[in-house]
Amino acid sequence: MDTVFAALLPIARSEAVLSHHREALHKLRRQVDRLQRNVDKCAQAISDNGAAQREAARREAELSDKADTLQRRIASTEHALNQGLTDAAAGEHQLASYAEQLEEVESAQLEAMEHQEALSEALPALQEALDEARKAQAIEGAPLGPRVQREQQAIRELTDEQPTLVEGLPRDIRARYDRLKDKLGTTTALVQERACSACTGTVPMATKGSLQSGHVESCPHCGRWLFLPTQLQAPA
Ligand SMILES: [Zn+2]
Repeated sequence: MDTVFAALLPIARSEAVLSHHREALHKLRRQVDRLQRNVDKCAQAISDNGAAQREAARREAELSDKADTLQRRIASTEHALNQGLTDAAAGEHQLASYAEQLEEVESAQLEAMEHQEALSEALPALQEALDEARKAQAIEGAPLGPRVQREQQAIRELTDEQPTLVEGLPRDIRARYDRLKDKLGTTTALVQERACSACTGTVPMATKGSLQSGHVESCPHCGRWLFLPTQLQAPA
């Protein structure tokens, strides 16, 4: 086996494992965020419900005032009519109009009360959803913390061992390694099907064949050194 290939192989293994741990950490963080978002969403729904209830109560009070005013006007118009102080036709007309307005206000008042009631009825379900979300956060979220730490630890260890692996590289290969690392963050990639696992560019069949014979090959698109998945599995 080519000596450069042999030197690059442990680097490729290390980078593959590192990327696996980074992915796991990313997934864990997404889970933690999702649980928090659920709790926030439920708390927001409860707060919205409270605001809507206050608004419905305010509207109901406003309508109740209007109804009182109309009832007073009706009483005073009736009183004036009885006293013969007002023109009968105009008074009757006024009374009919007040009665009609009162009916509308009372129907709106009823709607406001029903709305308020519906909001109150919805509250226990919202509270329950919040409790559920908090419970899920406590149960599902608790083991995520140690898992996040384990992933971070693995990433630290793999990152720390990289300089040791790189030390063994021949000078010209080392210069290329440093360039790739600076520019792309990783220096190796796998050939998966016919594509580079890092940049997804197509890898020519000839390159794949050359890899199978143990030669050092690079991705023609991103320049990373290529390895076959089987080469990373079995220790050299
Ligand atoms: Zn590539």
